[in-house]
Amino acid sequence: MSPQLILLSASSITASLFAGTNITNIDTQEQIVCLTFDDGPNSGTKELLDLFKLEDVKATFFVKGKEVSKEPDICRKIIAEGHEIGNHTYTHPHLPELASIEAIREEIASTQSIIETTAQVTPTVFRAPYLNINDDVYTVLGELDLVSIHSNRHTQDWKPDITADEVFKLATESTQAGDIVLMHDWSPATREAMPRIIETLRAKGLRFVTVSEMLAQQTKQ
Ligand SMILES: [Zn+2]
Repeated sequence: MSPQLILLSASSITASLFAGTNITNIDTQEQIVCLTFDDGPNSGTKELLDLFKLEDVKATFFVKGKEVSKEPDICRKIIAEGHEIGNHTYTHPHLPELASIEAIREEIASTQSIIETTAQVTPTVFRAPYLNINDDVYTVLGELDLVSIHSNRHTQDWKPDITADEVFKLATESTQAGDIVLMHDWSPATREAMPRIIETLRAKGLRFVTVSEMLAQQTKQ
């Protein structure tokens, strides 16, 4: 079997294992945690990538297809620097409110395709805009071998008046091994809090891994 075929079958095994469900966190003995960022790529993504390079942190970016078309270089930089890209739809709609399953498929498949063309990778993880998902979305995710990723650490950094201190607290206070922290790269509060978030989670003994690396721990058990 060629290495590519092995890779393909591993991702579809992972996808079928988690079919029809959302991953919020993983039960693991490994001291690992996932930092995830939605809605890029944008200038905020770039700022975070510079910090992560300096701090040797790996993260996962759930990108919008429409933004990838505007910022292809940042999209490629995410992959070149060892991070993971997930699918966050093309235009960020409430998927269950779309008129048909075809419209849902178009949002997700077109984003897979622009990421493939731009960064030469096929995403295996997906996050629904507004974490809003239904059976039709699960059906499409199954067709495309995508796993739905939610979070158990919501920083609420999308709130316009949230402060860096509040984001820091929500991202770190109860965070433990196997957790998935949800943030947005466009949030100034998140970017301001990020050096402290990294320092504090590291002080708890946690390592930063991509979502797929964390899922691989679960499938091993
Ligand atoms: Zn979003």
